[in-house]
Amino acid sequence: MKASSTLIFGIALAIFAGTCILACEEGSSPGSSRLSESDTTLLHNDSSGVERVGTMSQSFPDSVHGNPLISPLEQSLRDAGLVNVQDIDPTIRVDLAYSTEDNFLHTDVYGDLRRCYLQPEVAQMAAKASACLLTKDAKLRLIIFDGVRPRSVQYKMWDIVKGTDQQEYVAAPSGGGGLHNYGVAIDLGLYHVDTGLVDMGTPFDYFGELAQPRFETRFVKEGLLSQQQLDNRRALRACMLEAGFAGILSEWWHFNAFPKEIARQKYKIVE
Ligand SMILES: [Zn+2]
Repeated sequence: MKASSTLIFGIALAIFAGTCILACEEGSSPGSSRLSESDTTLLHNDSSGVERVGTMSQSFPDSVHGNPLISPLEQSLRDAGLVNVQDIDPTIRVDLAYSTEDNFLHTDVYGDLRRCYLQPEVAQMAAKASACLLTKDAKLRLIIFDGVRPRSVQYKMWDIVKGTDQQEYVAAPSGGGGLHNYGVAIDLGLYHVDTGLVDMGTPFDYFGELAQPRFETRFVKEGLLSQQQLDNRRALRACMLEAGFAGILSEWWHFNAFPKEIARQKYKIVE
């Protein structure tokens, strides 16, 4: 990240009930304890930054006014009352990892869906986080890798990983659904308009301890995570928390707008 002086944030990683590996907000992951005191220390950042390998998807052509390119899946999301987050905040970038084959499944499970849909209240919260970020550095943007994940897609993912080593990373869809299935969870990172994807120390969906906020202070001490990478994560978390989201201990990219019990009271699972 370039702007060195603007990214000095405190972190207070609030943890909602349960944690998540990828699709599971059911608490099956090991990240259920709270961060240590050292994780809340204010830190300064240095400089570095890398761009993610892969392409940045542009928005799919708008189909609100009768464009036949809208997919049945996207229409079903609209019918369920969800909103396109870029209709709320056009500065937010969207690069849905599961709408390409550049993901751990090596499968495009979203098809033509290129836009990120969320519950309206959650989209407003994301816009608030985006505004927070702009006050820190006018060239920083949120970039969303996944938002609502309909249960029909969760079944597709489950069918791919079932019986494989990756099974533990995907929540069984029969279990009532994770928070992505309710449209109240977001996977996202930071994007710099000049240099691209901001370096968080691991890619999105990296299955290793290096991606887990619970261990990052130790990894910095061991030299496996740079101070800049940690500060970048903290920059993202600071604005997400300010907007009302909660992070989890097992994935730097995942944030929940509500605890599961609240989400279930407020919303129906998105099928
Ligand atoms: Zn997630």
